[in-house]
Formats: sequence, structure tokens, C-alpha cells
Amino acid sequence: MRTTIRFLKVTEKKQSSYLQDASILLALALLLYLHLIMEVLLQQIEQHKQAITGFSAPNTDALEAFRIQYLGTKGLVKTLMGEMKNVPNEDKRAFGQIMNEFKEFTEARYDALKELLDAQHVDASFKGFDFTLPGDNLPLGSRHPISIVRNRIISIFKRLGFAVAEGPEIEDDWHNFGALNLPEDHPARDMQDTFYINQDPAWLLRTHTSNVQIREMEKGHLPIRMIMPGRVYRNETISARAHCFFHQVEGLYVADNVSFADLKQTLYFFVKEMFGQDVKIRFRPSYFPFTEPSAEMDISCLICGGTGCNVCKQTGWVEILGCGMVHPNVLSNCGIDPNKYTGFAFGTGIERITMLKYQVKDLRLFSENDVRFLNQFTGAI
Ligand SMILES: [Zn+2]
Repeated sequence: MRTTIRFLKVTEKKQSSYLQDASILLALALLLYLHLIMEVLLQQIEQHKQAITGFSAPNTDALEAFRIQYLGTKGLVKTLMGEMKNVPNEDKRAFGQIMNEFKEFTEARYDALKELLDAQHVDASFKGFDFTLPGDNLPLGSRHPISIVRNRIISIFKRLGFAVAEGPEIEDDWHNFGALNLPEDHPARDMQDTFYINQDPAWLLRTHTSNVQIREMEKGHLPIRMIMPGRVYRNETISARAHCFFHQVEGLYVADNVSFADLKQTLYFFVKEMFGQDVKIRFRPSYFPFTEPSAEMDISCLICGGTGCNVCKQTGWVEILGCGMVHPNVLSNCGIDPNKYTGFAFGTGIERITMLKYQVKDLRLFSENDVRFLNQFTGAI
């Protein structure tokens, strides 16, 4: 009985040992098999690479077939990616890298084939084309005359140290009229001259660029040496000499000891640079609510040279701007002490200067967009 039991135990022991050995063998075989799979996959990839390199796409159908076969949703790249689950864990990283490279390789080949096909297509469409024929002219635009003159004015004053300031075209009553010493009953406030905003008449379209002067003075950074170019609006009947909108340039210089002599010298320089050294200048006393003393400046007629013609109404002179010393009330309104500082200001219409410079007889031409007119400024700077 004892012997039998021992025998049985020995047999069990032996059997379990065999089983262990068998499972180790099986595991080894599986490992070998898995590594074999990896080897086979790598070989397959190499073969596919050769096939891809040798692929040619003579037409778009062949190119599309290539895309579907290799890069489509059921294509080779996707299928091989799916083999990742069969690769042993320790090889997964390496296999992933190989597959990424393979994908990039296939995509690059597709791009190259497509480029080749596109180039062939372009070649075909130019077949028989005579490249020695002269090309078609591309029409070049030109600057608008108002812009040309505006830029010219800015460049002249920049050389004298004037900076450019801009401000709002929709303005309140104070910045357009009140601060400029215009009394409540001044005719310029009349509905006939100013466009007021319907919903709120406290707001209006600025009638001059002087609102920018006020806004700059309110900032209180002295000295101020600036020009203010911009569009302005007035309720005028449109004619050859007037429009409901036009452009102005105003200038302002406020500092210690600014005098009328500074004003004259600045404007002399401007006129000579703008119209030439031979042009004569004269100042006539005038009145503006915002300057004291005030003057209007004329230049000798550019058409007749001062002998008298229709443009200058036989006087030999043409008015081009208004100017003067900034009124002490205006300085006070902007928080500047008129006992300490003085300043000069001037203003002119850009249309007016442009009409004189280019002999344009009708103001409306500037806003009609007639290419026959605008073409004449091609090449002007
Ligand atoms: Zn004249």
C-alpha cells in the first residue's frame, strides 16, 4: 500500500515536470513564432517599398489606384499598422517607428507622382504655344491727385519738423465750433452750412479739420508743431467750385515766443516748395474768430504769371489759404495759458492747391471716378 502511494507520487511529480517543460517549450515556440512574424513583416515592407519605388502613374486613374492601394482606408499602410497587435511587446516600439517611416515613404512617393503628372498636364496645355510672343500689358493704377498733393504737403511740412495729426470726422459742437471762439449766432453754425446728425443734433460732420487742433491742444503736450490733413463736410450746392465734402490741411504751432514772422517764414517755405521759387506771395488782413490778427494769403497766378487772366479774374493773384495767430480765447479754452504761450495756425483746401498745381477747372472731377481724368496722373508722385 505504501509502495503504491509512493509510486503514484513519483508518477505525479514526473508528470507535472513534463507539463512544465512542455509549457516552456510552447512559450519558446510562441516567442519564436512572434519574432518570425516581425521578421516576415519587415521583409514584406522592404518588398512593398521596392514595388512603390517602381510604381509609375501615367494618368490620374493610375495615381488614384496607387492612393487606394497604399494610402486608402483599407490600403496597405492601414493593414500593416493593424499587425501591431501580433508584434511582441518588446518589439512594438521599433515596429511602430518602421511603420511611420513606411507611411511617410509612401506619402512622399504619392506626392512625387502627383507632381510629375501635374507638370505633364501643364506641358500638354502649353503644347504649340509660342513663348516668344510679347506679353499682355497689365494696366497699372495711379495715385489720386488729391493723395498726390496731400502727400506732397505732408512731406514739405515734415521737413520743417511738423508731425501729422488726425481726428474724428463726426464731432461734437464744442470741438468743431465752441472751443474755436465761434459765437452761438455765427453763420457757420446755420443748418445751411453744417450737416447735423439727425438723431442727435449735438453731433455733426466736422466742417473743418480745426477740431484736431483743439484735441491736440487739450492734450497739453507743448510745444505743438503739427499739420492736420483730412476730409471735411459742408452743406453746399455741388458745382465746379464747391462740393459737400472736400479735404483740408491745417497747421498749428504753439510754443514760447511764436510770432507772425514765424508764420510768414513757414508759409513762404511751403509755397516755394509747392509751386516753385518764382511764385510771389502776399498777405491780406482778414478776420477769423479763432485767430488774431488774421490774414489771407495769395500767390501770383500760375497761369498768367501775374499779368492777369480769367483764372485770377485779371488780378494776377489767387487766394490759397487763411492764417493768423491763435486767438487767446482758443488757447484758454484748451487749457493753455495765453500769457505764457503763443501760436500760429493756417488752413488750406487740398482741392484748391491741386486745382492750381494741375490746372484742373472743375472740382467735381476729383470725386467722379472718371478713369479718363485719373489716367492723366499716372507716373505723378
Ligand atoms: Zn492769371
